Amino acid sequence: MIILFGGTFDPIHNGHLKLALHIASKFNCKVDLLPLNGTPNYKPAPVASLKQRLEMLRLVVTMYPEQLQLNLSETEYHEYSPSYLTLSRLRAKYGKEESFFFIIGGDSLISLSTWDNWKELFNLTNFIVAMRPGYTVENLDNEIIKRLIDIRNYNQNMPAGQIIITDFTPVDISSTQIRKQQKNLDSIADMIPESVNLYIQQQKLY
Ligand code: ATP
Repeated sequence: MIILFGGTFDPIHNGHLKLALHIASKFNCKVDLLPLNGTPNYKPAPVASLKQRLEMLRLVVTMYPEQLQLNLSETEYHEYSPSYLTLSRLRAKYGKEESFFFIIGGDSLISLSTWDNWKELFNLTNFIVAMRPGYTVENLDNEIIKRLIDIRNYNQNMPAGQIIITDFTPVDISSTQIRKQQKNLDSIADMIPESVNLYIQQQKLY
């Protein structure tokens, strides 16, 4: 079983961390933090450099070595790689029997049908969805609706195709909010791990 948590992580925050730890414990499996390499044309580029985003992730992974690990398969690709391509490469490496789970927030579920080759994703991975404050799940594509499944009923051995809704209690934190507060010189200490906060202040980030 492979559990991936893809994100820009600009910066990683307690919302990401709590969700990743919750899933690691629930599935009894390490979660791979998968930093995205840059962004597609339709999204603004990350503010922190790749090196800085990776250093912040390393600080967090060091704190939770049993639960988390860093997966560099996308950043080592050296250019933006849409999720379906990243997953295709990982599938080729691990074989078609391996079960893949890709963690996303509710906002990402709503925009899933805009991802490149999005229907192909259901042949490559399962999704684990954590709801997020401010996002309601409505007007979803039928292709998505028919795959939704409660976490109590999912099949752990199915390689791909399920969209599993977790029982995770949402945490109202976003990287955007952190960058904004840091820019305004408001404290961000209660939204990120202490070591990441120290790093941000040292690097004069955001
Ligand atoms: P930004 O505000 O810059 O868009 P973000 O806080 O959404 O960033 P990302 O790194 O873009 O963070 O998110 C990676 C993944 O984590 C996405 O699937 C997103 O939906 C999910 N996610 C981020 N924050 C939360 C949260 N508080 N609760 C649940 N999921 C989250």
